Amino acid sequence: MKRFKMLIDGVATESISGRVATIKNPANQEPVAEVSFGGRVDAALALKAAERAFPGWAKIEPQRRGEILHRASDLVREKAEEIARLLTQEQGKPLRYARNEVLSSAEALDYYAEEGKRNFGEIVPSASKRSRSLVISQPLGVAAVISPWNYPVDLLAWKLAPALAAGCTVVAKPSSKAPLAATEFVMATEEAGLPPGVLNLVHGSGRDVGSELVENPISRKVSFTGETTTGKEIMEKASRHVKRLSLELGGHSPAIVCEDAKIEEAAEACMYRAFSNMGQICISVNRIYVHDAVAEEFADELVKMTKKLRIGGGLDPDVDLGPMFSEAQRQKTKDQIADALDKGATILCGGSEPEGEEFRRGFFFMPTVLDRMDHSMRMMREETFGPVAPMMSFSSNDEALRLANDSRYGLAAYVFCEDMTTALWFAEGLEAGSVGVNLNNVIQPQAPFGGWKESGLGRERSRAALEAYMEKKHIRIGLREGF
Ligand code: NDP
Repeated sequence: MKRFKMLIDGVATESISGRVATIKNPANQEPVAEVSFGGRVDAALALKAAERAFPGWAKIEPQRRGEILHRASDLVREKAEEIARLLTQEQGKPLRYARNEVLSSAEALDYYAEEGKRNFGEIVPSASKRSRSLVISQPLGVAAVISPWNYPVDLLAWKLAPALAAGCTVVAKPSSKAPLAATEFVMATEEAGLPPGVLNLVHGSGRDVGSELVENPISRKVSFTGETTTGKEIMEKASRHVKRLSLELGGHSPAIVCEDAKIEEAAEACMYRAFSNMGQICISVNRIYVHDAVAEEFADELVKMTKKLRIGGGLDPDVDLGPMFSEAQRQKTKDQIADALDKGATILCGGSEPEGEEFRRGFFFMPTVLDRMDHSMRMMREETFGPVAPMMSFSSNDEALRLANDSRYGLAAYVFCEDMTTALWFAEGLEAGSVGVNLNNVIQPQAPFGGWKESGLGRERSRAALEAYMEKKHIRIGLREGF
């Protein structure tokens, strides 16, 4: 079986302890590959390598860093099929979505290869005739990058690309549960010509490797995507050294379907966003609020479309949905459905595991539509991370907005509405980092992405991500006689 290694100081290495973990396919629980499983010592070595490499990398012209990142993107595209197959096998998503994820990761490298060149400073007005004030941004040092299992390549790429473009060196820790495709992505990026130590990769648990990356004073910045509870723990530990933080945490996104919405389009968008990646996406639609007048029509459309979705192993080109990532995710989804049904919800479709021999060994679950939900149910308050579309009806816009904002999360929100005045009223009133109007995807490279409330801190994508790996410096120059 293939063994995936770590990358420390430019060398593919085994963990010091020699420990190895086996990664299994969630569609059938068959082993996919082995991975060297590091600990605190490996993480500390990687941090030291990144610290040594930092002064050299920080001094290289942004153009030159950009050339390497563009070459890395080419290499990732060349290997896209191989990386995508690994991603499907370790994470479960259908191959065509895995391909999109890998291509999006290549796009991150291209995007920041260019954005890194535009690190403009400012000359700000001076209070004195005899001085000038320049403001510049400089790379902040070693960045620790920690990512989850649901989009293991993409989420890593959109962190390490701006970090490298900014002139930081990086120690990356992908999820210990889905590290394979991320490893191939990192190795391809390294092959493009990064000096040793600029990009390091350590495998291992969050408890050991993750904690070392956060607690060790060498890392000046922690960029983390994962659960809100983990984010809070990281925030506390990072405060000991006043480390810079970017936190992309849990979400619980509402979708509001207004009386004048185009119902078929709204149902299709909600269906896609509730079920893609089996609902295991932070911007998933988690609560659908539908105006009374169109609730029945919307429910009929949503159920009709949901029943057409094909479920199966992700390597089968005909499937729309793969397995869930783990038994724990599936059980959490079942528990939340049971709680909702107990409290008066009705089930319109799904709600159980699919039948058939091909599903027996995988973590499959039927996409589920629930109606008559209310906010006493766990599913309307807690992150599900499962393939469920829960619906609740409303009778006024004020009520819909109040319900949508009744959450400790604030990552994304969606509005389906033809009248643009009402749509904008909702968009401006929603407490979320991104609002989609009449569409199902709020992410695009040029726009900042991040959460309000307990969904996070800081912004990724866009120019904001580059700035997140830099410190500002004011240089005040005193001038001689003559001015
Ligand atoms: P976790 O928080 O469990 O883990 C995320 C990463 O952090 C993993 O690499 C994990 O390692 C590591 N980790 C765990 N504990 C610690 C620790 N104490 N210190 C440092 N690192 C640690 O999240 P999941 O992997 O379960 O991912 C799912 C979550 O991610 C969901 O809540 C989802 O909403 C969120 N998410 C948010 C996004 C956003 O943009 N806001 C996007 C995608 C997902 P290990 O693998 O060993 O557990």
